[in-house]
Amino acid sequence: MRWVFYLDLDAYYVSCERRDRPELEGQPVIVGPDPKLGPTRGVVLSASYEARKNGVHSAMPASRAAQLCPEAIWVAPDFEKYSRVSEEVRGLLRTRFEKVVPLSIDEAAMQAEYPDAASAEARARAVQEEIRSTFRLPCSIGVAAHRTVAKIATDEAKPAGVKVVPPDAAADFLAPLSVRSIPGVGPKTEELLAEVGVHRIGELRSLPPAVRRRLGHLGEELYRLARGEPLADPEEEESGPRSRSADRTFFEDTSDVAILEAAASALSEELAGSLAKERLTYRTVSVGLRWEDFQRTQRSRTLPGNQEGPEGLRTEAIRLLRELVRAERAGQARRVRTLSVGAERLSERVGRPVPLDSFPSVK
Ligand SMILES: [Mg+2]
Repeated sequence: MRWVFYLDLDAYYVSCERRDRPELEGQPVIVGPDPKLGPTRGVVLSASYEARKNGVHSAMPASRAAQLCPEAIWVAPDFEKYSRVSEEVRGLLRTRFEKVVPLSIDEAAMQAEYPDAASAEARARAVQEEIRSTFRLPCSIGVAAHRTVAKIATDEAKPAGVKVVPPDAAADFLAPLSVRSIPGVGPKTEELLAEVGVHRIGELRSLPPAVRRRLGHLGEELYRLARGEPLADPEEEESGPRSRSADRTFFEDTSDVAILEAAASALSEELAGSLAKERLTYRTVSVGLRWEDFQRTQRSRTLPGNQEGPEGLRTEAIRLLRELVRAERAGQARRVRTLSVGAERLSERVGRPVPLDSFPSVK
C-alpha cells in the first residue's frame, strides 16, 4: 500500500547554525535580528526548543522574544546556507524516494509503497538516521496514508521522532487531538467549533450539517478527517511551488479600512519574508477576503516583471484590498472575517537575499 512520509526538519535555522557552532548545543538559541544591537522591528525566524520553553516562537517580534528569554543567544540568519542545505537534503531524498514534493524550505512529502506499517516505520527511521548522520540535522517524520494525517503525525512526533499512523488507526489517533492540530483550522474556526461543543477532532464526527455547510470545503474536510479518511491529497508538481499566501483571521469581524490595510501591510511583510527564506520572486499578487458569512472574494494582478521584497507586494495588496472593499460597499457591505495576501507565478531568485530588516513586524 501507498504511504506518505511527511518530513519536517526540527527548528531548522537553529539546527543549521548548531552544526557549525557546537557551543550552541543545549542553549536557548534564536535566529533573528539581535535587539541588543539596537532597536529592531524584525521578527524571530527560528527558536530552539530551549527558547520555546520560555514562550518564544517564530514570527514573534524580536523585542518581545528578548523580554521572554533574556538569556537567549541571538544568531543573524544566513539564508544562503539554509537554502543550500535544504537543497542538499532534498537531493538526498530524491535518491531515496520516487516522488518528493518540497513544501517549504524545511518540509517535504514523499511517497513509497510498503506492505505494512512496520516496514514503513523502519524506512522512516532509516531516513531520519541518514539525515542526522549526513547533514547533522534532526528531523521528525510522520507516516500515514494521507498527507494531512502524516503532517499531523509529524507535529505529534516532534522533536526528532517518528510517528506511523496506519489507515485503520487514523480515526483513533486523531480523535483526542485538538481541532487546532488540523492544518487550516485557526482561532476563529476553533471558536466556531467550540460554540457547538466541538474541541477535539473525534467530536467532528457529530458536526451539525449546518456548521459543516457554513465552513464549505473545510467543513467537508474536517468531517472526513474525523473518520480517518481525509479528502485526497492535492496533486502537486515536483517542479516547485506555484503560489504562497499568508492570512489573518480577525478576532472580531471588521469593515474598518485602517485595520484591514494594517493587516494587509503586515501580511505582505510576512509573506515577503517567507518568499525570501525560500529565495523566490513573484509576479502576481492576490488578495482574498472571507466575509462574515464565510463567502469568499478574490482579486489578483500581474506585475510587469519578477518582484522581490515586501514593498511591491504591500503596495499592490493595499490597492487590491481597496478595490474589493469599494465593490463590497456598493453591495452587501459585509464585514471581513479573514484577509489573505498571496503571491503567484513564483521563480527561484538569483543573487543576494533582501536584508532582514526590510521585514519589520507590526506590533
Ligand atoms: Mg521545521
